[in-house]
Amino acid sequence: MPKHLTLRVHLPPALAQQLGARRKQTGQTLSAIIIQALERLLGDEDQTVFQTSTVNALMEGVSTGDMTMGELKTHGDFGLGTFDGLDGEMIELDGKVFQVRADGHAHPVEDSARTPFATVSFFKADESARVDRPCDQPAMLAAVAAMLPSQNIFHAVRIEGRFAYVKTRAVAKQDKSVGLEDAARGEPIFEFRDVEGTVVGFFTPDYLRGVNVPGYHLHFITADRSAGGHMLDCRTRDVTIKIHHTPEFELGTPGTEEFLQADLSRDHTAAITKVEH
Ligand SMILES: [Zn+2]
Repeated sequence: MPKHLTLRVHLPPALAQQLGARRKQTGQTLSAIIIQALERLLGDEDQTVFQTSTVNALMEGVSTGDMTMGELKTHGDFGLGTFDGLDGEMIELDGKVFQVRADGHAHPVEDSARTPFATVSFFKADESARVDRPCDQPAMLAAVAAMLPSQNIFHAVRIEGRFAYVKTRAVAKQDKSVGLEDAARGEPIFEFRDVEGTVVGFFTPDYLRGVNVPGYHLHFITADRSAGGHMLDCRTRDVTIKIHHTPEFELGTPGTEEFLQADLSRDHTAAITKVEH
């Protein structure tokens, strides 16, 4: 049996005081409270999708980068999003963040870069299935859907292998306050044939429209991490679909004046469906 580890930790006074207050409030031991906090932070039962900002905010042109990549990585090693001023498509895979700019090329990103919108999780496959028959995108998504126990929770989706065809887009950096719908108009489109790579994405329940893209939001990056983008279409050749069920959701909102003062009451569902699928 693995040995227990005994820790000696120097806590700042304010935190020590809060710990004491929590102990009084709940009757738990100090050890129990600390174990609970560490499990939440490090446990392999992490089932949380973390997101900063909302898709409606992007539609309203709220695109000033706020959260750094360094901070985003503390919330997940897998995900997607965009960068300051809608400057390309973000893909986070195995803890590394890549930016696909409007030229279609992928570049590694510094931890100091900022995002106005991103969705991440610590990916762990709960389900895995190989699909070695050719599928068009609707057939591939039907295979994914068959692996989801419910469409009423988030799921992280990772699809890896060989694709006969992939079509992506990458939004170009915009002037401030240009919304995603206008930005995506005339966006550069990229096509890949007989390519190896990974699809990084999430399934979002329909009732969270306005918060994220309802249904599937998928980004793609090649196996050599040189190109990719927001995925518009594909045909698979031989891929493995992995699903991480993530019934917990944490939403962080940007502290920018732009976000705080924006009118986020409008319903952009029709436009989101048009630009994101
Ligand atoms: Zn996207």
